[in-house]
Amino acid sequence: MRLATIQTQEGPRVAGVREDGYVDLHASDRHLPPDLKSLLAGGKELLAVAEEALRRGRAVPADEARLLPPIPNPEKIICVGANYADHAAESGVPVPAEPIIFCKFLTALCAPEQPIVLPRVSQEVDYEGELVVVIGRSGRYIPEDQAREYIAGYTCGNDVSARDWQLRKPGNQWLLGKSFDTFAPCGPVVVTRDEFAHPLRLPIQLRLNGKVMQKSNTDQMVFSVEKLVSYVSQVCTLKPGDLIYTGTPAGVGMARKPPVFLKPGDWVEVEIEGIGVLRNPVIAER
Ligand code: ZN
Repeated sequence: MRLATIQTQEGPRVAGVREDGYVDLHASDRHLPPDLKSLLAGGKELLAVAEEALRRGRAVPADEARLLPPIPNPEKIICVGANYADHAAESGVPVPAEPIIFCKFLTALCAPEQPIVLPRVSQEVDYEGELVVVIGRSGRYIPEDQAREYIAGYTCGNDVSARDWQLRKPGNQWLLGKSFDTFAPCGPVVVTRDEFAHPLRLPIQLRLNGKVMQKSNTDQMVFSVEKLVSYVSQVCTLKPGDLIYTGTPAGVGMARKPPVFLKPGDWVEVEIEGIGVLRNPVIAER
């Protein structure tokens, strides 16, 4: 099932995606929770009810729906550094022996079509197209061979990064460099795990103003989604709705000669086969 969060007059609502548009699932069946995080937490049983509500409900045409980040209220945004060997090489860092984990503030979330705002204190804002894991079940010390059961589905993400803050501030401020407001575009939809074959083998690409800048496949990840879920769960309890940005392949702007950084008027698109296209314009901070 393909699930989104749309803005309605009653507030953000979980919606199912149908050919004729988006169906507000809570409006279709009042037994369903109004938000995607709670729906995912309900597991298979609640998703089956949602499928029925999706069949029966009334759709809002796609061009009339305003999409929000699919999970507008996650508890955590977890990110993985250098998780594709070709990106590690272009960044001049060794392929890591263990996952490199950092996070983004929740205020960085950015909806599909919402502008990425270039902060006035950075001159080097870069893109990173990434597969995002959406957690569906609470867990701690999750064994790798059971990790898949904790994944609700997948979406697209852009790990927008101010390289001057990330790499040249004292102590390498990854958290700050990657947490400016709007630096976590996410969406457009969460596609549930049952729609994918595992291990994941999904073509992923990022386009800047229509030009392909990153092109790879999620089977090139150094650490699999299952490994990442298991690894992080040694430290913290993963919760339904938590997001894991799983790292970016080669082709980022800072590694190009000359470097390419985002500028006002740009459009960035992250496309992952089986999920869709996450599109965001770029604007300057007023
Ligand atoms: Zn990244």
